[in-house]
Amino acid sequence: MDALLIVDFQNDFCPGGALPVAEGDRIAGPINELLDSFELVVATRDWHPPDHGSFVGVEVDPEKWEGTDPPSIWPVHCVQGTRGAELHPDLDQAKVDVVIDKGQDRWSQGYSGFQHTRLGDLLRERGVDRLFVTGLATDYCVKNSVLDARRLGFDVTVVEDAIRGVEVEPGDSERAIEEMKAAGAELARSVAIRRDRTPA
Ligand SMILES: [Zn+2]
Repeated sequence: MDALLIVDFQNDFCPGGALPVAEGDRIAGPINELLDSFELVVATRDWHPPDHGSFVGVEVDPEKWEGTDPPSIWPVHCVQGTRGAELHPDLDQAKVDVVIDKGQDRWSQGYSGFQHTRLGDLLRERGVDRLFVTGLATDYCVKNSVLDARRLGFDVTVVEDAIRGVEVEPGDSERAIEEMKAAGAELARSVAIRRDRTPA
């Protein structure tokens, strides 16, 4: 059983948002075209409390912080219940079966859709063994979700034209893709995935 995972395709990560990814909104086309090919479509949302430890200006006890990056490095983004945290309006949300909120724990970085969520259990309950991963951003939440999925034993295909990166440093997206491949993830373009599948 295959599932489509849409990572954090939210207003704040798209042009005009609080933490915009260049061309972030451009992933809508390839994602929407894939929706009918999957029986299960899951979208994650970055869903932070207003005082989340990743936000600039929030004081964090380093002893309590759980993350690979330091705390307090990102502009305030994806605060629970705000417009910026909503899924992007170009996404055909009627075809999303389950929304998983992540990043809710103040003291955890929360990049991965599997961290402190029921995503892993949900996928196992539904008999999923392969995930097709799309979303934002390649070099943070997509990468960490893919690496966790591999650790948990899922086969993973990253949809290369349905992701975009933040690129804090030039080349970050390319390095993230290499890291995902080294962990056993495959890469494919949406048109090839659609061609190989009959509509669900
Ligand atoms: Zn976040």
